Amino acid sequence: MDERRHGGRLEVPRPEPRASGGRVAIGVDLGGTHARAAVIDGRGAVLSACKRTLSDRTPEAVADLLAAATHEAIRDAGQSEANVAAVGVGAAGQIHSGTGVVAVGPNLGWRDVPFAELLRQRLPWPVLLMNDLSAAAWGERSVGAGESADDVLLYFVGSGIGSGLILDGSLYEGSGGVAGEVGHTKVVPGGRLCGCGEQGCLEAYCGGHNLSLRVAEAIAAGRASALATVKPPVYAADIERAALAGDGLARELWDECARLLSVSLANYVTLLNPARVILGGGVLLSCPELRRTVEARVFELALRASRQGLQLVDARLGDDAGVVGSGLRALESVVPGAES
Ligand SMILES: [Zn+2]
Repeated sequence: MDERRHGGRLEVPRPEPRASGGRVAIGVDLGGTHARAAVIDGRGAVLSACKRTLSDRTPEAVADLLAAATHEAIRDAGQSEANVAAVGVGAAGQIHSGTGVVAVGPNLGWRDVPFAELLRQRLPWPVLLMNDLSAAAWGERSVGAGESADDVLLYFVGSGIGSGLILDGSLYEGSGGVAGEVGHTKVVPGGRLCGCGEQGCLEAYCGGHNLSLRVAEAIAAGRASALATVKPPVYAADIERAALAGDGLARELWDECARLLSVSLANYVTLLNPARVILGGGVLLSCPELRRTVEARVFELALRASRQGLQLVDARLGDDAGVVGSGLRALESVVPGAES
């Protein structure tokens, strides 16, 4: 990688125009249960994709699986291996992209895994490892809902909560590569235990996985609720539906989510003054009333000057955002022609 760090920003060429000389990259989205490898061209189009279930989550087994999926995706796209320029991998957790190490990968149970090196041992191309939401933000910014904006925040509320940041046209990953961990900002000091091992994080209250747990805990403690009839896991959309129908427990959880997410996002907007916020993740995108409420309150709570001209839009690339972003990012980091 010929990326250079300056004050936490990775200096890579801007995405437009994308003159990759016809070369392609592999974009990988590595989740906790599945991995997807896709062939991405210089315009961010997905030429083929290969999805695999992770049965063995040891780093070596996952690297073997991804190497096989990569070769299959290249064959499916009708590409020659010589035309592949690089491999980009977006993985959940705290990722040091400069060294290619997964510092903390909670979904996989990994700590300090030099995953880029494991892939380089199996594949003949440069490997760029990055956080999955940074990858998604870069994908949306390049060819999705963030196009033509230089200051973009991807705010993601799904099973977990996180964000990706494009500042002044560059992906911002922080001095240690872990910027944007908004799900682990503290909203209740000393509060609920979070999957990260700390207490009181936003994700411990509003992440989809934790919402489901909170419903189960309340019902186990004897709380009456229409949600008791929903087969677990209870999804955020179930909670919104029950809340709107007047269920007390659902209403409490929904109100708290709307309040905490609105304050969190409004403060983020006040701090960074983005031109565009891209909303993503199953909790926000499957709950139209929650999404509408959060948007309205952000415009009430963010500092007036910081929300001038602000746009809140929905993510456009869906499940492709991670593979498109990691693939484009890898391609742009090794193909000089991709520079504008
Ligand atoms: Zn946490």
